[in-house]
Amino acid sequence: MFKLIFLLFLIVGTFITLFVFIRLIQKKITLKRASLLMIVFGCLSIVVFYPYRSRIRGYYHRFQNRTEIRPQISSNCNCESLEVPKDSYAEKHRPLAIRLTKNGFINNEATLNSFLSRKRLVEVGESDGYFIQKLTSSTKHLTPIAKKRLEELAALFRSFLKDSKNEKDYFVISSMTRTETQQQEIRSQYPNSSTPGKSTHSFGVSFDINRIKSKGSCEVSRNALMRALNQMRDENKILLCPEFHCIHVTVVN
Ligand SMILES: [Zn+2]
Repeated sequence: MFKLIFLLFLIVGTFITLFVFIRLIQKKITLKRASLLMIVFGCLSIVVFYPYRSRIRGYYHRFQNRTEIRPQISSNCNCESLEVPKDSYAEKHRPLAIRLTKNGFINNEATLNSFLSRKRLVEVGESDGYFIQKLTSSTKHLTPIAKKRLEELAALFRSFLKDSKNEKDYFVISSMTRTETQQQEIRSQYPNSSTPGKSTHSFGVSFDINRIKSKGSCEVSRNALMRALNQMRDENKILLCPEFHCIHVTVVN
């Protein structure tokens, strides 16, 4: 039903715009009247589509998640065996994620959309120092504080690479926020891959870094990331959990 109404409005809208435009060129309608006509049509569209706003927002988010900037740098540096401490998932990551979000557990897509509309979660776009790869079982959302800390981490990482061949390097995010539904899909596909119980990814405060795209030396870049992660952990802003292919980061403050 929604798609049919949308298609109808698209066709009628295009037709009215064309009609008004032609009449304007022919000077058979005044600019004032043409504007009024377009405003009336705009208001009518708002009234008709208002009940579908959460669905439209969902489409918009899905579209956003599909677009990504193509990385221009070719060499991949992995994040394996980076010397960072491992904070206990069950004793630190999970309880602190629950505390920071006041138990804001994202059960399903409806909760995700509701959190987005209440700004408990925000969109995360590309920025200097990091890149989000095409995500399959998670979406590009985080809580506002987690987004801020991600940007801070990226800026710190870049500051350690200033005036070197590596100054344009960036780290790659391989996972971000997962609803419990998405988490269950992962569990059923890879039974040994995720920690039992609630995932901190389902609170919107975690992201995984799985590699660095580098133009210079991998070692320099890996060291810069290691320093940035350790510094922010020492400042009690994040917790770390090195996993087999990635570093799991949970924002706690
Ligand atoms: Zn993770």
